[in-house]
Amino acid sequence: MTDNRKRIDLDALQELVDAIVEEALAYPDHGKATQKIEALKDADVDRLGMAIFTRDGDTVAGGDADAPFSIQSISKVFSLELALEALGDKLWKRVGREPSGDPYNSIMDLERHEGYPRNPFINPGALVVVDALCDQVGGEGETRAVIDFVARLLGEDDFGINDTVARSDEEGGHLNRAMASMSKHFGNFHNDIDIVMKAYVRQCAIELSCRQLARAGRFLMLEGHDAAAQRDPQAARRARRILSLMMTCGQYDGSGDFAYRVGLPAKSGVGGGILAIVPNTASIAVWSPGLDRNGNSLLGTLALELLTDKVDWSVFGEIPTR
Ligand code: GLN
Repeated sequence: MTDNRKRIDLDALQELVDAIVEEALAYPDHGKATQKIEALKDADVDRLGMAIFTRDGDTVAGGDADAPFSIQSISKVFSLELALEALGDKLWKRVGREPSGDPYNSIMDLERHEGYPRNPFINPGALVVVDALCDQVGGEGETRAVIDFVARLLGEDDFGINDTVARSDEEGGHLNRAMASMSKHFGNFHNDIDIVMKAYVRQCAIELSCRQLARAGRFLMLEGHDAAAQRDPQAARRARRILSLMMTCGQYDGSGDFAYRVGLPAKSGVGGGILAIVPNTASIAVWSPGLDRNGNSLLGTLALELLTDKVDWSVFGEIPTR
């Protein structure tokens, strides 16, 4: 399993996934569900799922891999892809590519940089990306575009948006509205804030299982079974750039620690999901609703750390076995 070009041993991987789910669940601290979205406050932190979609098109899954969960900020990867596809490098006039070192919902840096968010994965950046998509297709069009993209990646539309979660996020979204207002004040926000907010909370409220999310992540794998990028060098180039942002900014101010422990580009959401990519090899989704202090899934990160160590998957190279 260590050679990325070798066919992955699915039986060995299945055994490993089952063992990792068990080992991670035995960890004494399961973290705390997000308290920022009323409808997600009471999520069960004793649940953990993992699914691995391989380059060959196989899926290995364990634990609660079929339970749908709120993808939240993982949706920012899908909207970023759509915005980059539509706008190309023009998008970078409106949002940066630097890690923030601040929590995902911090507004402080936005004033300092005159409404120009540091990256597309913190909330102010994601809101500007959604605003840029709304410029093209309007609010409802934005939600539809994200849904259609995910459906295309999955090859099915057996998933939905949780309206209660969306409403809850919108009602409690004072800080998000403040960020949008700050960007608007500096001329970096074009559409009606309420329309963009609605589109944003709706894409965040998409529910997918680990099995579905791992499959949806295949557009970032660059190569392999059915990967969209494989047929289109432009899409592959975009995917590689999105991966670089996932590496540096995907877990907010926990991105450095995550790179150290897991060694893969990944994107987390406060619903407890994480999408991690092993370039040219696999797309991995984990979910456990208990979060660490940076808002990243505690058991999900631990499960990824155990997995990548055991199968020797890292963008930082392979460990010689002799
Ligand atoms: N919808 C959430 C918010 O805007 C997403 C945050 C997250 O997943 N980090 O607060």
